[in-house]
Amino acid sequence: MISECAKCPVYVCRVGDREHGPEACPMQYDFPAAEGLYVDPDIRRVARVAALVEAAGYRRWRRAEEVIEFARRLGFYRLGVVSCSDMAGVAELYIDVLKKNGFETIRAGNSQGECEPVAHAALCNDRGTDLNILLGMCVGHDSMFIRHSKAWVTCLVAKDRFLVHNPVGALYGANGYFSQALREHQTEQAGHADADMAAGQLAAAAKEVCSQGHGRWTRVEETMEFARKLGVIKLGLIFCAGFRYEAAILTDILEANGFEVVSVGCKAGAVPKEWIGISDSEKVRPGRPEMICNPLAQAELLNRSHTGLNILMGQCVGHDSLSMKHSEAPVVCLIAKDRVLAHNTVAALYESRGYLRSALYQEHRTKERKGSHGGS
Ligand code: SF4
Repeated sequence: MISECAKCPVYVCRVGDREHGPEACPMQYDFPAAEGLYVDPDIRRVARVAALVEAAGYRRWRRAEEVIEFARRLGFYRLGVVSCSDMAGVAELYIDVLKKNGFETIRAGNSQGECEPVAHAALCNDRGTDLNILLGMCVGHDSMFIRHSKAWVTCLVAKDRFLVHNPVGALYGANGYFSQALREHQTEQAGHADADMAAGQLAAAAKEVCSQGHGRWTRVEETMEFARKLGVIKLGLIFCAGFRYEAAILTDILEANGFEVVSVGCKAGAVPKEWIGISDSEKVRPGRPEMICNPLAQAELLNRSHTGLNILMGQCVGHDSLSMKHSEAPVVCLIAKDRVLAHNTVAALYESRGYLRSALYQEHRTKERKGSHGGS
């Protein structure tokens, strides 16, 4: 399967055109039909609600608010909050926000000691969480948690110790201050890792990256090192169309480091939003054609390409959940999108008791407690 959306010069899928993409456009080949991918009513509902939240809060809600709205609209009231040990303080800030908004929270993560993503997933599974929120996990530990979580997972904070948890900064500086750093992670060994790699393999690679790169490598560098330690050459890149500039930069960096990249943008498939039950007034820009984000097709194309590790970049809340569930290869959340805070999602939590107090604590307050799995 050929797919190089990150290098696409036209992006015609955004306007519903399936015919005029470039040669490496996945729509020119055997593209997975939405009718087959979104047949499950729960999957369809998550996809629809993610699109509704995207439009309702477009450039108005921070990601921390979008997560609350996504959970509320789906009737998800028991939320797992998962972090690695050094992000415990930030996790507590968000737990406070969630509780005051009427949610029940399950805290999975130590405040000290080793990161234990598999144990965290087991705890969330035992407690029957509806949605698990990644709030600062090391590269690879997120992959392990996602793989073992039964509930949906969304990423709120992609931890980057070097860039104070705003990993996209590495890409914006890729041709400047970070130029040398990002190009010196040359892939030396070219092993083959299958998508079925064992938890022990992931854990060992994540632990090495964590200790070697601690506070020294950006998350982009950590992701490359993680792939290298797993022996992965072929990387999948799932990105939001709003991140196409960043996707092109990242692809350039990955290829310069010896990786092969299969990339799929979110509008691939060119499926109109009406197809999933979104009315014109519920679009981001009513009166114009809008295509659904297609996270299942993105993951499916990477599955067919047998990528060894999939990188998520800038997906909406909930669209990331769908890609994570459908990915056969381990998944790393590289960048969590925040249209208000220039993708610095953690800033909302640092200000949760200050400037953003009323936005986070009042605007999204859940008036009535509904049963799990209820809601609209
Ligand atoms: S599917 Fe990918 S390659 Fe095809 S038009 Fe869209 S962005 Fe371009």
